[in-house]
Amino acid sequence: AKADGRGTYRFFETGMDARAQARRLLEMDLRAALQRDEFEVFYQPIRDVASGRVVAFEALLRWNHPQRGLIAPIHFIPLAEETGLIVQLGEFVLRSACTDAASWPDDVDVAVNLSPVQFKSPNLIASVTEALAASGLDARRLELEITESVLLQNSEATLTTLHELRAMGVRISLDDFGTGYSSLSYLRSFPFDKIKIDRSFVSELATREDSMAIIRAVTGLGRSLGIVTTAEGVENDAQLELLRREGCTQAQGYLFSKPRPASDVAMMLEGPRLR
Ligand code: C2E
Ligand code: CA
Ligand code: CA
Ligand code: CA
Repeated sequence: AKADGRGTYRFFETGMDARAQARRLLEMDLRAALQRDEFEVFYQPIRDVASGRVVAFEALLRWNHPQRGLIAPIHFIPLAEETGLIVQLGEFVLRSACTDAASWPDDVDVAVNLSPVQFKSPNLIASVTEALAASGLDARRLELEITESVLLQNSEATLTTLHELRAMGVRISLDDFGTGYSSLSYLRSFPFDKIKIDRSFVSELATREDSMAIIRAVTGLGRSLGIVTTAEGVENDAQLELLRREGCTQAQGYLFSKPRPASDVAMMLEGPRLR
């Protein structure tokens, strides 16, 4: 029972619909999972298209739920963002990714996704600094991926944060390019090192002329602005061949590997090279 503020009590379950209850359970579960160390960072290789070399791994969060098994981020990140738990979760990912990457060959970078909530948190610079110091990882090996939604509001504060990160040596990628409120002016207003072309354009490469045109435009833009372009969600050789022809810098996708645990990184580094 819970006081409703007017001195009367009611059972708060009765006023709550099933969805709200499920949410509350998930939130409690999330907090407990952080305590119990149930989160794990998986890695997916990113290859240089021209040489075939693995140049980086993207860190992708997984929840090892004792009853429900491995849970993908789409099922818990939105709630973690609403409740603010994403800040703690994000710090866990940063620390894990930097620590893991410190043991990889030093020409292999690590990319970490930042939630807009985490990006706006006053702790961000301190958490990045702390993760780098604790792991001993060279800041130049860390890439932070942000989405266009971060750029929408308070561009002054955003710009300051981006400049601070880059001054540390960290690189910034614009994730899911083409899906949000893509504006070419972002590329001029904000300092990006890399554009990640969203999977939806890659998956429609063979069937839609306009997807091909968009990829051609983005890779061309990247080339002239000196920004690396990475294609996401590359699943077959035909897509890779088209990307190579358009001069896309890097490729990532199931064609090379699904995201796997840190213990599989050595195997993924040795995996099949591009032809
Ligand atoms: P994203 O950053 O766009 O990550 C790429 C997603 O595409 C990953 O899904 C990856 O497993 C999937 N993927 C990679 N290659 C292929 C492919 O060839 N085909 C297909 N169909 N899918 C592919 P995942 O791991 O489920 O992550 C989903 C989203 O959750 C990520 O999208 C990212 O936005 C978010 N996320 C993951 N980890 C973190 C994290 O540590 N922090 C934050 N804030 N968000 C995260
Ligand atoms: Ca990403
Ligand atoms: Ca993406
Ligand atoms: Ca995405």
